Amino acid sequence: MKILVLGAGGFIGSHVVNYLKAKGNYVVGVDLKKPLFAETMADQFYLGDLGDQLFFGESCHGAWDEIYQLAADMGGAGYIFTGENDTAVMTNSALINLNFARSISREQIEVGKFFYSSSACIYPEYHQVNPDDPDCREESAYPAMPDSEYGWEKLFSERLYLALARNFSTKVRIARFHNIYGPNGVWRGGKEKAPAAICRKVMETPNGGTVEIWGDGSQTRSFLYIDDCVDGIMRLMASSLTDPVNIGSEEMISIRKLTELVIEISGKSLNISYVDGPTGVRGRNSFNEKIESATGWKPAHNLKSGISKTYEWICESVKN
Ligand code: NAD
Repeated sequence: MKILVLGAGGFIGSHVVNYLKAKGNYVVGVDLKKPLFAETMADQFYLGDLGDQLFFGESCHGAWDEIYQLAADMGGAGYIFTGENDTAVMTNSALINLNFARSISREQIEVGKFFYSSSACIYPEYHQVNPDDPDCREESAYPAMPDSEYGWEKLFSERLYLALARNFSTKVRIARFHNIYGPNGVWRGGKEKAPAAICRKVMETPNGGTVEIWGDGSQTRSFLYIDDCVDGIMRLMASSLTDPVNIGSEEMISIRKLTELVIEISGKSLNISYVDGPTGVRGRNSFNEKIESATGWKPAHNLKSGISKTYEWICESVKN
């Protein structure tokens, strides 16, 4: 198959490219940057801004068996929840999705099946106030009240792609990812997410030292290992699920417990201190009933095995 991957230089995009190449496909990648930690396996790679209409046309127009849209301006809590990047996050990501929609409606792109990466950040804040009992079932998305502009843009773009499916018969599959982590994910520089940031802090702290965590540590999340995410994407693409579905882990854990787990994996003896910082909603967990009953998908890795691999990879990356 001839496949286009937008965001092919990013964390999930680069893993998707590798998977598709290993299956023998012809893969074209597009991104602002090449993958940070390994050579891309894409057959062709366009470097540029997908928000730019001209570049979008040059790199994306044509006929494709499948397109995976994983490009977005995003990061962890330090990027999304401070408010400082709100305009960039909304504008950059929306422009990419609008360029895609316009190209479809002008028949400049022909695509067999299209994948869009949405986020658990679309879920309303009012369903995520109890850290022990958040509600992230797909149907709980409305009335909408995401707690970040990132979430609002994702919700808008979900609706844009659902409109394309209605108006132009585009076959669209939409996943709402819940905190994907693993090797080749960014772990420093300000865009890293909680698992990578905590692994880095633990790695950098000498035995007997103290690791700083944002918030009181009782906020909860679930984390999905990258290989399970790619497997979920592929099963969703092969399915007949046309509404957005969660792809995440149901193994919810507090940030304090996650930090203790990373410390245990490191073999060090460290203290934890809790400091002010952006934390997002109080609780969030994936709810996988829809994708599991339709495709049989569920995560193969538990948190401990995935975090162990990630910690090891970050330690190795530091040496290189
Ligand atoms: P990432 O930041 O590693 O990858 C996104 C890629 O998009 C980056 O390489 C970036 O350079 C590229 N990009 C951004 N703006 C661009 C532009 N204007 N033109 C060209 N390329 C551009 O993020 P990721 O973790 O790989 O996430 C992939 C997708 O999954 C994103 O849509 C993200 O919002 C979504 N998602 C990720 C998570 C997660 O936990 N990683 C959770 C929920 C949703």
